[in-house]
Amino acid sequence: MGGSVWRELASTAGRARRVALGAAVCALVASAVAACEEERPVAKDPLCDLVVGISLERQYSSQLPDQTIALTFDDGPGDRTAELSAYLRDQAAPSAFFINGGNVEGRETVVRGIVSDGHLLANHTQTHAGLDVLFTEKGATAIVDEVAATDRIINQFQPGARPLFRPPFGRWDASVHKALRDSSMNKYFGPVYWEMGDALTPTTAADWDCWDAAGNGQRTLEECSDLYLVEIRSKRRGVVLMHDGPPGGANDRTVDMVKRIVPILKAEGFKFVRVDELDLAPVTVPEAGTFGTTLTPPSDPCATKSRPLSWDYVPFNTKHVNPCGPALLRRRGLSACVLSQGCR
Ligand SMILES: [Zn+2]
Repeated sequence: MGGSVWRELASTAGRARRVALGAAVCALVASAVAACEEERPVAKDPLCDLVVGISLERQYSSQLPDQTIALTFDDGPGDRTAELSAYLRDQAAPSAFFINGGNVEGRETVVRGIVSDGHLLANHTQTHAGLDVLFTEKGATAIVDEVAATDRIINQFQPGARPLFRPPFGRWDASVHKALRDSSMNKYFGPVYWEMGDALTPTTAADWDCWDAAGNGQRTLEECSDLYLVEIRSKRRGVVLMHDGPPGGANDRTVDMVKRIVPILKAEGFKFVRVDELDLAPVTVPEAGTFGTTLTPPSDPCATKSRPLSWDYVPFNTKHVNPCGPALLRRRGLSACVLSQGCR
């Protein structure tokens, strides 16, 4: 669905906007800090000539249209992923599956089904290793290998998909960022985080913890479903975190929960979008260094000079000036850049 819209935006309209943006970008360059950092290799997005890259800052999307959510499923493919994928297809709820490549062998048909059902494959590493720990123990190469191995699998099943990355356990730091940024895996956008499904509390949900007898969990299917509904109804928009793996674990209960909550949400008017399509809507910009805090984009999207953005983490779907010109990137020593709706 909207993938084609994104492609079109990125190639045609994006090109037109970049021309129109020339003056604004030049003004920015002229006023940019002169100190040039070392030039890093910059990756081209496979679908357009925008420069993309992994970001140090965690990426959120919390300003979707009201009652619009993006379901994401981590740690699969699992034992019931095929059932989940087909169900979501039938419900017209395209979703994203952040897979661990190590789970794919023997489940190739399942992965093929995820794609043919209209969902997105995204990268959650090969073995679900905590990348910060892996960096300490084995260094940068091991981190790149974790992402690259799953990247090869995704390319095999869904070539040309927008490359999105989410780190296992959400664990992310400067060392892990630098390892990926300085590698060919800098083609990924992310780290993609979530607004809902983060923690099990009296008013919020976390499926893995619902099913985990050793954690806060041991919730019934109904209790956990109700908590997701409470949180989604309260926040009304954004990315929802759930799990469909790993195989052999308890997270396959999430499939039953999805079957319970999706019809309810649809009846209440909620819409479902794929997380790679979120650039079609303006979003709230996370404040640098403050987890989860949000800023409203300025009403004049071209008024960036009055608003000191950290370019290194400009989210992929803001209304700010597109800072993705390669020259501007090099000038500012940036690796991360993203699609922007730009100025008109
Ligand atoms: Zn995970």
